[in-house]
Amino acid sequence: MTVCQEGRRLEGRRVQSWSYNRGVIHYEERLYRPPSEARSLILQATIGCSYNECGFCGMYRNKKFRVRPLAELKQEIEWARREYGADVQKVFLADGDALIAKTSFLAGVLDALTEAFPNLRRVSCYASPQSLQVRSVEDMALLREKGLTQYYLGIESGHDQVLLDLTKGVDAEEMIRVALKAHEADVKLSTMVLLGAGGRALSRDHARESARVVSAISPRFVSTLVMTPVEDTPLFEQAERGLVDTLTPLELAAELREFLAGLDVTGSIFRSNHASNYLTLAGNLPRDKAALVGQLDQVLADPENAPFMPEWVRGL
Ligand code: SF4
Repeated sequence: MTVCQEGRRLEGRRVQSWSYNRGVIHYEERLYRPPSEARSLILQATIGCSYNECGFCGMYRNKKFRVRPLAELKQEIEWARREYGADVQKVFLADGDALIAKTSFLAGVLDALTEAFPNLRRVSCYASPQSLQVRSVEDMALLREKGLTQYYLGIESGHDQVLLDLTKGVDAEEMIRVALKAHEADVKLSTMVLLGAGGRALSRDHARESARVVSAISPRFVSTLVMTPVEDTPLFEQAERGLVDTLTPLELAAELREFLAGLDVTGSIFRSNHASNYLTLAGNLPRDKAALVGQLDQVLADPENAPFMPEWVRGL
């Protein structure tokens, strides 16, 4: 995934918004979370990413994956209950793919959260394709009943060659298969697509195939990020050797237009609000599809006046 940044990719941002006492909640930085979890209590149920192979992702390269002891998490939840209690409405379980942890462990965390926070509305986590392969639909449904109602899934691309180049570990059909398991368990999916991941040569095919895969999944949320080489990743090394195309903002706009034009989803919310994007767009699909495509047509027709984010605003 997703969250998937800083360094990155990605969809997360360094967490600074939650007021916490490091002496009580033991965060092992760097910590990442999706933009929409800015006001969530973050708990590190796991450390790092059990897969940790995606060539563009630098989020957890220096962390050895492990599941944290349930007793430690319960202490942190108890502290947060005393400090914040009824104020906690959303919890995000970090790090990279907490869903890979055993169902009994996650159920224990969720039970403790439910007991501690009377106004808890949602618990979410990143889910790698690999963790979705491991978890059964029944397990996901059980955890959903206990409050884990949303996963963030980095689809990145629907193009098999691009997925291979990214070392994502699954092809497009497998991505669809595992995502539909979450659907079957009635878990909401928030998915990310990586603009620019196919370089110039595969830009159009990457957009079209990504639209095909996202349409097959029809997730509740669809967002785009712009692929950005991050230090200490294979992608960065390739970029240093001149092997990575860096698409211009205009080329990325054309790719995004192709992607949105190809989407056939129902009841999805689209956002390009991650800091890596040059254009911030938002809409409900399918209702706003024509308007979003129209905005991009306008950008392509008059790039001089396009509202591209300057690099210093993107903040990567
Ligand atoms: S699954 Fe890939 S993108 Fe997601 S955290 Fe792990 S290495 Fe990074």
